[in-house]
Amino acid sequence: MKKLLILGGGTAGWMAANMLNHYFTESKVINPNQKSWQITLVESPQIGIIGVGEGSTPQLKKFFDLLGIQESEWMPACHATYKNGISFLQWSEHQATNRYFHPFPSPFDRQTASAFLYHCQMRSRGMDVPVNPDDFFLSAKLAQLNRSPKPLLGKPQIPLNYAYHFDSAKLGAFLCQRAVNRGVVHINGKMERAIQDKDKSMRAIKLATGETLDADLFIDATGFNSLLLQGVLEEPFDSFDSNLFNNKAVAIPSTSQKIIPSETKATALSAGWAWQIPLTNRTGNGYVYSDQYLSPEQAEEELRRHINSNIADESETRSEAKHLNMKVGQVQRHWHKNVVAVGLSQGFIEPLEATALHLVQETIQKLAASLTDPSFDSEQERIKLRFNEAIKRRFNGIRDYIVCHYKMNTRTDSQYWVDNRENNNISTQLADVIDTWRSKKDIAAVLEQHQMTHYYPVISWYCLLAGYGSFAPATSPNKLPSSNMKQLAHYIMQNASHFAPHNESLGIST
Ligand SMILES: Cc1cc2nc3c(=O)[nH]c(=O)nc-3n(C[C@H](O)[C@H](O)[C@H](O)COP(=O)(O)OP(=O)(O)OC[C@H]3O[C@@H](n4cnc5c(N)ncnc54)[C@H](O)[C@@H]3O)c2cc1C
Repeated sequence: MKKLLILGGGTAGWMAANMLNHYFTESKVINPNQKSWQITLVESPQIGIIGVGEGSTPQLKKFFDLLGIQESEWMPACHATYKNGISFLQWSEHQATNRYFHPFPSPFDRQTASAFLYHCQMRSRGMDVPVNPDDFFLSAKLAQLNRSPKPLLGKPQIPLNYAYHFDSAKLGAFLCQRAVNRGVVHINGKMERAIQDKDKSMRAIKLATGETLDADLFIDATGFNSLLLQGVLEEPFDSFDSNLFNNKAVAIPSTSQKIIPSETKATALSAGWAWQIPLTNRTGNGYVYSDQYLSPEQAEEELRRHINSNIADESETRSEAKHLNMKVGQVQRHWHKNVVAVGLSQGFIEPLEATALHLVQETIQKLAASLTDPSFDSEQERIKLRFNEAIKRRFNGIRDYIVCHYKMNTRTDSQYWVDNRENNNISTQLADVIDTWRSKKDIAAVLEQHQMTHYYPVISWYCLLAGYGSFAPATSPNKLPSSNMKQLAHYIMQNASHFAPHNESLGIST
């Protein structure tokens, strides 16, 4: 039996433990003849977890589906709520474009999305037609109406893509319990030092208690510390700081809302943006900013003002603030020798689109596929190279989409926003997409050519660019029949009525 040691028990470590245990010991879905692995997870309660990270992409549903975990089982345990998408507020100064909703596209949207794309085309040719994504997507309407993405019983069961909000510490605890129940060995202990082989591969870790734990493969899930990959193996880290300026965050919870929203709000502030994430027992708030433009004290004060402007009772924001550093970028090789980094130890793109756990899932899935590749023993280096390139491309692809938010802002109220808009340290692929958009050509072909649709679909790019009103001024009035938008609104509203109020889906009375 082979040994796999996961160092770190944050959400990344426990997601890895559950998925790898599922692939290697429970289902053996990938290769029925593979050797079994004994999985051990070591974590240090003294060091603890980062304790933020409350939003997901739709990928997280696939994680629970893979493991056969029902929403009724994990959601109440983690104070979880449904997420139809993200509202971007105040990223533009113009009244008509100071808010838009980024939905998670679903097959249902095909019809309305084609109307949206047509409107975008007309708008780029100068016609003053509506192009805010909010008018075209069912998920946007569900978020406006505080409805969940779950259809009511007896109504058409329209399948929508959706994500979640959750308490990350509770999710870690839930996944820990589940993994331990299924045979993963859990050790509370602090790694003091690593023991390496002659070729520098990891042989074992030594804990503060003196215990030595050896393994064939090590998963570094030690958060921003990246003790094994960046620490012991000295793998270089490529920072994204020339693309993405934010390097700090401050988080302050407030009480939960009576009617729980089914969306994340991302509101631009003076030197970054604030998240508002609704859970069943509280609301998560945080400000992601750059300390080149704002001190932690100023950020905390601005966040408190922002929270107070959204709630009636100021006493609800007396909670202590948690200040965090963010190391934004990625390691050059996510898998080097016999160490694979997962979670913050492999890299982090700031949390604007809540993609961190999505990257954890991708990494684990690709790792499992690599390890069970029939030619792994003879072609290990080639397989690792392919793995590293795929993960690196995914990080870069997601980064480009997030950078595009900052490039497209139209705020003039602070140097931070001006500098972001004028920053030309962007990838050639993103520059190509923006140039194509500005030259009024179809960006779909360019996105395909650069394989950028693997990370965000064409519709998401259109939502972003149209949502911020990134068009030249209109030169002709709207000549499309006004009945078109009325019919569309009616169609969306009618379908929205098939979905349950969010509180009802969560079993909470209003
Ligand atoms: C401001 C902010 C907002 C975020 N928002 C989101 C979001 O909305 N959505 C999302 O998906 N992600 C988000 N993230 C990222 C998310 O927090 C992380 O991806 C997630 O929590 C996983 O973290 P981790 O497990 O990699 O690290 P951690 O939670 O830091 O866990 C590290 C583990 O390593 C252990 N450890 C460290 N050193 C040792 C040692 N010497 N010996 C033994 N154990 C050790 C620790 O005890 C701990 O168990 C956000 C991050 C930040 C900073």
